[in-house]
Order: sequence, then structure tokens, then C-alpha cells
Amino acid sequence: MGKSTTLSTREKKSNPLQKIHYTWIYVTERCNLECDYCFFRHMHGREISMDAVEQLFQLFERVNPPRTLICSGGEVFLAKDNLYKILNEVRRRFPTTAPHIQTNGVLINDEDILKLKDLGVSLEFGIDGKPKETIQHRCGLKPASYNRLTETIVKCMKAGIFGGSTMTVHPEEVDHMEESVEHIVSLGIPHVDVTPAAFMPWTPETVASFKKNYLVMSRRPELRKIAYANEDLDWIEPGTMDLSLHPPGYLFGGDPFLCLPENKRVEFTMWDPATFEMRPDILAFYDQAYTEMHQEHARLPYREHVCHSFELMNKMMGEKYMNTWAINDILRFLTRTHLTLGSKKHGQ
Ligand code: SF4
Repeated sequence: MGKSTTLSTREKKSNPLQKIHYTWIYVTERCNLECDYCFFRHMHGREISMDAVEQLFQLFERVNPPRTLICSGGEVFLAKDNLYKILNEVRRRFPTTAPHIQTNGVLINDEDILKLKDLGVSLEFGIDGKPKETIQHRCGLKPASYNRLTETIVKCMKAGIFGGSTMTVHPEEVDHMEESVEHIVSLGIPHVDVTPAAFMPWTPETVASFKKNYLVMSRRPELRKIAYANEDLDWIEPGTMDLSLHPPGYLFGGDPFLCLPENKRVEFTMWDPATFEMRPDILAFYDQAYTEMHQEHARLPYREHVCHSFELMNKMMGEKYMNTWAINDILRFLTRTHLTLGSKKHGQ
């Protein structure tokens, strides 16, 4: 294990990170699929450093453990040894933290289902609808592996593992949203997070079609109550941040940083990944970003955390890296729709 992260009293006073909300650990950069819309733009095949994980856990002990710890990748089940080490440590050291996994589901076997149930882990499967729509963009998935995925989902739901899914909508698939959600629900999944694919070539026409089709779907009460929109209603107090730990040991103030190239990860990591010393200038940068993310909107009755975090990516990159005009437009629409129609939020 590496050197302990020690903050002096003076550093603590000036440290804007006082409390942790959510934390993501990207266990591996490897994946068995090559989705055309993958948000993880720059994979290098690296694994998470378990020294860095230990340093993160020590940070939890000094500040506070997060409400939810999300293990993600790449595909986490390609790195099962480290995944289970992390989950076992979380259960032992942070009993109030809910462990969660984001997975493409293809590599989960019966033994895993038993372990996950025992560890109290919730699962979030990446599945975009019926085989055609899913295989079309989740490249590497074949009819046989798609069937294995749906069998695994059904087994997990029957085993009583709490599960949801992220349904990523490629602009080419906007006309299939309703049947895609219906299909995912038919597998027993109680929550579907319908998400526009961020880096894809959206046009004003496909954005309009997304909205039109989503509205039709959300007027059906049985579908509306399982669909989750980024309502952005969670208010997190000043000094509270989300964290994400990326291979080999970069630490960031939230989760969208997966799309950053290596030079930007080096520039914006909160701690030095070799010594785990915090970088006060970068902590101050995130503090400012969070202040902007969580301010009340001048005209809207909600905060726009996700929209601001995508704008932050463009700011870090110094260019219009993400097509925020389309993604933020859709996210605002989803928020408005769910507020208007009174849908239930994920996990409630
Ligand atoms: S399964 Fe996830 S990490 Fe892997 S390529 Fe697809 S979107 Fe990217």
C-alpha cells in the first residue's frame, strides 16, 4: 500500500472537500465490447491501482464514506479479483455505503450472482432494447451473448438483486425508444435510465424526435414510473463533492471525466497519483465548479448539475468537445417532463 494521504490542520481548513456524496471507482479500462457511443473515449487497458483504492478508503475514513460507491469500467467483470476485493472492503469498512456496479452483464455467472446477492450489491445493466437496437451499437455483442445477457438479467432479478438499466439512445434509434423500454421492463427491470448518447451526431431533427417519442412513452403511467430522468433535484451542500478514481490512480471531482484524454487527466487530477498528495489549486478549481453546478437556476425550478458538468468538460478541454447544445437540451427536456408528469425518481 502507498503513502498515506495526510492533510494538516491548515490544509483541512482550506480544503474545500469536506464531505463525499457519490464515488465511482473505474476498476479497469479494459472492455469486452466496443460500443460506438462509448463515453470512455480514451482507454489504455490499465487497471486501478489497489494502493490508490486504499488511499481513497482512508480519505473516506477522514472525511465521510459516500452514500453510494459505484464500481464501473470498462467492464468490471474482466477484473473480478480487484472488484471483489473492493466490494468486500466496502462492506467491512463502510457499512452505510451502498455498493453498486455498472456492467454490460455479459460476463456475470451463477457464482457471481450468489456473491453479489450476499454482498448486497445493486446492478445497473447496459442494455438498449431488443437485440437489433442493442447489437447495432454495442459492437462486439452477438445474438448469443445478447441472449446470455438477458438470461443473466432475469436470473439476477429472480435472485432479488436490485437492478436497473441504462438505456443509451443513439440518434439513429430515437424511433424505437418506446418498444426498447417495454422490452427491458419485460425482463423484470424496475428502473430504466433513458440517456442520450453524448458524443453522437445529434441534429435538431433527431433531438426533436427524441422529445416527441419520449413524451408519447411517458404518457403511459406504467412506463413513466420506471423511467428515470436526471431530475437534478439532489442538493448537495457546499463542501460536498462526488469523486471518481480512474486507472491507474487519478482522482477527480465527479464522474464525467471518463471522456477526458490523458493529458487532461494529468492536469486535473485532485491528487498526485504517485504520492497521493492533494493539489490545493485543483481542489479549489473543483470547489468553484461545484458552486456553479449547484446554484439555483435563474428561471428554472431545478438545478442543472449534469448540464453544468458537461460544460465543465468543454471548459477543461478549451474547446467545444461535447455537443452540449443537444445533450443539455435533451436533459433539460427530461427533467421538465418528469417534473411535469410527476414521475418517481430512481431508487425511490
Ligand atoms: S460496455 Fe461500456 S465501457 Fe464497454 S465499450 Fe460499451 S459503453 Fe464503453
